[in-house]
Amino acid sequence: MPIDATQPYDPNNVFAKILRGEIPSSRVYEDEYAIAFHDIAPAAPTHILVIPTGPYVSWDDFSAKASDAEIAGFVRAVGIVAREAGAVEPGYRLLANVGRHGGQEVPHLHVHVFAGQPLGPMLA
Ligand code: 5GP
Repeated sequence: MPIDATQPYDPNNVFAKILRGEIPSSRVYEDEYAIAFHDIAPAAPTHILVIPTGPYVSWDDFSAKASDAEIAGFVRAVGIVAREAGAVEPGYRLLANVGRHGGQEVPHLHVHVFAGQPLGPMLA
């Protein structure tokens, strides 16, 4: 069920628990600004989620409120993860769903990294 992206940050959302190590995940990257782990229901041969370590509900929230260092660190981490997935060539797709119309289900910002097959004009 898509979320209302204007809600206050919920520290008990599933990705907050993954960040704190309270529930398991298949982690592929971590630094001060971001962690990345495999999506539990992959929609492509490679499907990784990159999340900021700070408490941001969505891309909208993050881009408005995060510090320049957090934004730079997170964007850099997404690039590292995509490269480490070996997906620079022939390419990959980044996606951040936001709110009800965006189809966002988990209320902690996450960027999907899809790779490993031709992805077509849109990934449903
Ligand atoms: P959204 O629709 O919010 O952009 O995407 C949420 C993503 O999180 C979905 O692709 C879903 O499969 C993934 N997901 C939901 N719960 C978990 C979980 O507990 N662990 C992992 N690794 N992924 C999850």
